[in-house]
Amino acid sequence: MAERAYFDWNATAPLREEARQTMCAALGLTGNASSVHAEGRAARRLIEQAREEVAGLVAAEAKNVIFTSSATEANAMALTPAIEVGGCREARDRLFVSVIEHPSVLSGGRFDLGKVETLPVTSDGVVDLVALRLALSRSKLPLVSVMLANNESGVIQPISEIAEIVHAADGVLHVDAVQGPGRMTCDVGVLGADLTSISSHKLGGPQGAGALIRCGDVHVAEPLLKGGGQERGLRAGTENVAAIAGFGAAAAAAQKSDVQRLTSLRDRFEAGLRATTPQAVIFGENVARLPNTSLFAVPGLKAETVIIAFDLNGIAVSSGSACSSGKVQASHVLAAMGVEPTLARGAVRVSLGWSTTEAEIDILLTAWNKVVSSLFNKRANAA
Ligand code: PLP
Repeated sequence: MAERAYFDWNATAPLREEARQTMCAALGLTGNASSVHAEGRAARRLIEQAREEVAGLVAAEAKNVIFTSSATEANAMALTPAIEVGGCREARDRLFVSVIEHPSVLSGGRFDLGKVETLPVTSDGVVDLVALRLALSRSKLPLVSVMLANNESGVIQPISEIAEIVHAADGVLHVDAVQGPGRMTCDVGVLGADLTSISSHKLGGPQGAGALIRCGDVHVAEPLLKGGGQERGLRAGTENVAAIAGFGAAAAAAQKSDVQRLTSLRDRFEAGLRATTPQAVIFGENVARLPNTSLFAVPGLKAETVIIAFDLNGIAVSSGSACSSGKVQASHVLAAMGVEPTLARGAVRVSLGWSTTEAEIDILLTAWNKVVSSLFNKRANAA
């Protein structure tokens, strides 16, 4: 394949070299981590080291990290009425999720759909705190789920403030922090999150590993998968040792913050975009955003056409919402922000990561100029 430039890090990041090496070594081991013999203990050591590394990434205690097969699974594990707080097992009566959540949260996890309510966002894509307060007054023991940063727009949510509101209403707060680590500080104590989901492949670990991290006296009281007593009885099934070890290695590497470098690369891209296409709309630009994410649309251009044209020029970008069918779907995030549907259909997401260079941003901008002028020329000729 000809040389390509990758700008779809919010969909998945490349495997870090540290993770690859750790996984290759782990694949050479034989033991089941539940076995007491030396082989089993060696596998167990890898899992426990990864637990320390993942805990370190979000300033949690290692004993509070539960490994899962993905953040999707971690979300499903967290979103249950069966949550114990300070030894009290009274079921959570309602689940409140922000309208811009990932589908794995919007689906409501293990709640009856009739008990799930969505919370609106402002036109900047930030959860409406007035609506949150009002919604919580309708519940005795709420569970609230709000993401740390949106995967499409990159908009960062005011989680500490949300945590105060939720706790004042005897609520429990789950935070889908999948897009945060490596791109912003993610200290679960500072955030005030009781339950936090993260995913390995967004930070340079393998696909197919994730974690739910609990805090303080909050516990998930009902396992998602029942069987063996793995992961403190919460997630039965023989552990995927190599994936977990790779996740740990990636988490350790991701602790080095990249924020300034990513911000300057993202700003370079957006300055170039504005220079050639001043009519471009950059979503969420007036509020705190992830430093690696730029979601934009140009009136009159469709995302599908732009993405294919970029791809033919050796560049991987995406529409905000990757979906399993590979088709560009209407973004529920932009709809919730009140973006006009025809403009929303043009939304293209550029997302960066630790190996993105200035030279790649310039390649992206050169390709953008080519793509945009050829698409507008085609339209002019067709008119
Ligand atoms: N939550 C958010 C915000 C995401 O962006 C994603 C992945 O795109 C997920 C959850 C799901 O993560 P995983 O692929 O590990 O299931």
